[in-house]
Amino acid sequence: MPLDFKQRFFRVLPAVDKILREKTLLEVGEKVHRGLIVEAVQDVIAEKRLNIRRASSEKELELMDLSSAALAGEALRKIGEKTISNLRPVINATGVVLHTNLGRSPLAGAALDAIKAVAASYSNLELSLESGRRSSRYDHVEELLCRLTGAEAALVVNNNAGAVFLALNTLARGKEVIVSRGELVEIGGSFRLPEVMASSGAAIAEIGTTNRSYLKDYREAITENTALLLKVHTSNYKVMGFTAAVRSGSLVGLGREYGIPVMEDLGSGVLIDLSRYGLPYEPRVQDLVAAGVDLITFSGDKLLGGPQAGIIVGKEVFISRIKKNQLTRPLRVDKLTLAALEATLRLYQDENKALQEIPVLRMLTLPAEALKVRVKILAAELEGKIGSFCLVGTSQEKARVGGGSLPQALLPSCQLTLRCPGISAGKLAERLRQASPPVIVRVKKDRVLIDLRSISEEDDSLLLDTVAGLLQEMDNESNGGVVQK
Ligand SMILES: *Cc1c(COP(=O)(O)O)cnc(C)c1O
Repeated sequence: MPLDFKQRFFRVLPAVDKILREKTLLEVGEKVHRGLIVEAVQDVIAEKRLNIRRASSEKELELMDLSSAALAGEALRKIGEKTISNLRPVINATGVVLHTNLGRSPLAGAALDAIKAVAASYSNLELSLESGRRSSRYDHVEELLCRLTGAEAALVVNNNAGAVFLALNTLARGKEVIVSRGELVEIGGSFRLPEVMASSGAAIAEIGTTNRSYLKDYREAITENTALLLKVHTSNYKVMGFTAAVRSGSLVGLGREYGIPVMEDLGSGVLIDLSRYGLPYEPRVQDLVAAGVDLITFSGDKLLGGPQAGIIVGKEVFISRIKKNQLTRPLRVDKLTLAALEATLRLYQDENKALQEIPVLRMLTLPAEALKVRVKILAAELEGKIGSFCLVGTSQEKARVGGGSLPQALLPSCQLTLRCPGISAGKLAERLRQASPPVIVRVKKDRVLIDLRSISEEDDSLLLDTVAGLLQEMDNESNGGVVQK
């Protein structure tokens, strides 16, 4: 193949400067940083050079529009891609309601309003409007947390890992903490209880076996060096079969006998008995307070359905010591989180309101019947939009709570299923992930499953438009880019 024909095309490629002078790019230049525009133009030229180098025939190259206006148009599209946020909303079609990689809890409308109001303005974050004196940022939620849980005092930090760390560092640094071996958990790869304990300066006194611990195991491990009895919620797994664990109340009794505080890391704090709505029973924060547990830690963005935060509730004597620890400063919660948390907690003052308005609670407690109705409608509409390009179906696989909450809880659910002949399910999942907005799905055998349990009803039409739009685009691509009617 003579190389000469390619030289001609390399020569007609316009210079960067020429493309930059195209009207469309001069216009965006008023809004977008010049460096970004130059980079986009250079990328386009590099792509064209590659196309020319790889071309196998002159005819193929003649089909390319190498005018500077056309290349400016392509650069403009690239600029568009580069200027949308990296961090952006996605549709969670995985069926895992509390998905840590997808940001756990979407917030309630009231929480969003509170964030917006506080973020756009100055606030009384650390000022008492009553006395005019300096106050604590924690005051805004402490009373509410105490009222909802029955605890004497409360503190909020950046996240639950921070809450556990701070409590251990305050109460058990240089001392021993007794904990059952079956509860030395690792959550999400980044929270390893043994490591958090080690870095807090507390030594672990491990008792029991993986599947069984008895009260006498705790009792026998107590020494003059014991600072705390710790119970940890085994959030993301469940030991099955012959198991035994000591109940919170019994541990409290033992702690009282020896004058040692008892702490429970609940992981995912619930304030509502979700077993009334078809989920497995989980002890509520207020149940542990009532059982006499001295300190309870839990996340703001798991079953509570609020912003990322670590909440500590319990006895005033211990919370006040924790508040004085210098480490509360590096772990401190910011005003936007506090605004969202306060608004979320206020919804809990009326249980029905919480269940309706807190998105994770609404998704988790939605009756399976409602999902069945939605999936039928969506399947019919999708089929109507995409014709025969892909096979649309429905399935009734189980969904999961996720987020290290209710480990074996499987929720009845419904999925839209997609199978596109000639395209692997993995490839289709990848294209959906790159759609706008991205749709995150799961793959089962040769099908893509779009689970409605983790999608708010309000997003159904967005889901439909996004999936249909992508499949139509893929259909066009498979027809050689010719748009078919
Ligand atoms: C999730 C979890 C944590 C970590 O909480 P974050 O809010 O993610 O820091 C700690 N302990 C338990 C038992 C958990 O389930």
